[in-house]
Amino acid sequence: MSDKNNKRTLNFKTEVSQLLNLMIHSMYSNRDVFLRELISNASDALDKVRFCAISDEKILEKDSDYRIIISVDKEKKTIIVEDNGIGMNEEEVIANIGTIANSGTKKFLEQLDKGEVKDSNMIGQFGVGFYSCFMVADQVSLETRKAAEEANSGILWSSSGDGKFNLQAVNRATRGTKITLHIREDAAEYLDDWKIKEIIGQYSEHISFPVLMPEKIQQEEGEEGQDKKKKTEEKTELKSVNSAEALWLKSPRSVKNAEYESFYKSLSYDFEPPLAWMHNRVEGTLEYSSILFIPKKAPFDLFDREQKHGLKLYVKRVFIMDESESLLPNWLRFVRGVVDCSDIPLNVSREILQDNKVVRKIRAALVKRIITKLEELAKNKPDDFTILWTEFGKVIKEGIIEDHENKEKIASLLRFASTENAKEEVSLSQYCERMQENQESIFYLCAENLEAAKSSPHLELFKEKGIEVLLLTDRIDEWVSSHLTEFNGKKLCAANRGEGQEELGKIASKDTTDVAEEVVDCKKLLEKLKSSLGERVSDVRESKRLRSSPACVVTDDAQMTHNMQKIMQAMGQKTPETKPILEINPSHQLVQQLNDGKLDNFDDWAALLFEQALLAEGAQLGNPGDFVTRMNRLLVSKLDS
Ligand code: ADP
Repeated sequence: MSDKNNKRTLNFKTEVSQLLNLMIHSMYSNRDVFLRELISNASDALDKVRFCAISDEKILEKDSDYRIIISVDKEKKTIIVEDNGIGMNEEEVIANIGTIANSGTKKFLEQLDKGEVKDSNMIGQFGVGFYSCFMVADQVSLETRKAAEEANSGILWSSSGDGKFNLQAVNRATRGTKITLHIREDAAEYLDDWKIKEIIGQYSEHISFPVLMPEKIQQEEGEEGQDKKKKTEEKTELKSVNSAEALWLKSPRSVKNAEYESFYKSLSYDFEPPLAWMHNRVEGTLEYSSILFIPKKAPFDLFDREQKHGLKLYVKRVFIMDESESLLPNWLRFVRGVVDCSDIPLNVSREILQDNKVVRKIRAALVKRIITKLEELAKNKPDDFTILWTEFGKVIKEGIIEDHENKEKIASLLRFASTENAKEEVSLSQYCERMQENQESIFYLCAENLEAAKSSPHLELFKEKGIEVLLLTDRIDEWVSSHLTEFNGKKLCAANRGEGQEELGKIASKDTTDVAEEVVDCKKLLEKLKSSLGERVSDVRESKRLRSSPACVVTDDAQMTHNMQKIMQAMGQKTPETKPILEINPSHQLVQQLNDGKLDNFDDWAALLFEQALLAEGAQLGNPGDFVTRMNRLLVSKLDS
């Protein structure tokens, strides 16, 4: 719809409409964040105009007094947030606020549906911040004009959040954006200067532009005469509410913990304080400052490949880019923070950053610093380290695969569950300290879950010998173990592979109760099993690792384990066809009866022996129906006999 004044009405994209509905009707907790979102958008817009002015100063139209002004009108029941940032043209207004739902909108709705968004505080994480103003306003208008464009190219957007918005061309003398909120009855508390100041103090204290509010001051006029009569006049002055300073440029000694915490909150949209932080100012041939934070909780999109992570990059206080992934390796993507460097050109692009020498140096130094911090946490604050490991352990493990330079140090940060400690707390050094006499390798077992790992037949001999085995149950562990073959000169050895058997033989048994093994010659049985199972196995052999189970499958040292195959298949990747080796336990009653030829239906028994070993491994049977039929046939035959 449009009329002579160029007024048009457009519909919100369906998802945006849903989102607005939620904002209006269901978000009642922590509504304060609406202001943080508007200030944060204004600050982004100021960053953008300041950045563009580097190459073209004219766009500033002689106004480089970057600022955000917030005014509250109790009578009109309005709050106005105005910036002299980059502004938007008509096309951008339509795209950014209304007709195009960004990817975050959909995610936000999904997570909300799943109950994972517990607090409106999380809104900012999804890039749907602007709409949060409908939590407190029933009518919102946004007037904006893009920097360097004509005054008459201004545009007025307005909406009451009911599925539609209006657009109208307006004249706007200055660049930037002015947002007017008509505050709802139930949100009247926000029509108070003090409330607004309190919110700014809490969330926006450290944004690097001044947030100004008009303040009434009494001014005395005229000379103080003999009769001491004075004339007073009320004037309004703009006063900065926040400190508007770059915290990272201050000396670490002068910054209070609360300041770091509030800076972190404004940077991360997290409502909890960070777990730890590092603030450094480096001077010398390379000059830079950085503040890095380790959060207490992983963000919802930590494993989302499309999601960008990274630090904020500034050059001489000028904001250059968000999510600069060149400053940290992928495995440290959970670290938040800022880096400000004077030795990077202002007009740097993402591509240039990737192979910039200065950036590489900073990155290497930041990684070292973070690793040292993590080591410190592990040593001095084990409870904090446990939180860190629970939230980010899986990501840290990626470091073993991708960060060769720091592999050994990252390995010392890893924590695993083990046969001695079911919690994920055992470090490789701890494991080494508790090794048995004659033990040279670090043994581990990868399995689908902890229960499957603990009851695996592969562990029977280890239990008997009192050898600790690390139990690896994360998807990524198979990869990690294939990249981590040594730690402190000790080999890492998989308990379900052929390797390590010789070493096990050298280690004395702790449990001496059932050492009196009956030596049975089962060569013929092995041959018979091999021909009965045919193509399904690559070999059948006698096991030295089993005690109570009749059989298990092992993987050749050079082949892919079952677990790894499953992981690859789940990721839609083809895996080479591998055949397991069946190992049988000659001292088991079932095997002995088979060996003595006491059991009929040999082929059924052979298949059952093999299939149960596969099941114990967490593998899927090619034809589970066959397995069930066969098992029942054997059970019935036993009942009959
Ligand atoms: P986000 O800021 O996370 O992208 P928002 O919903 O808060 O999500 O804002 C959507 C977009 O609208 C912003 O990315 C920006 O392009 C534009 N925008 C919002 N506020 C302003 C502003 N004050 N000045 C210029 N552009 C703005």
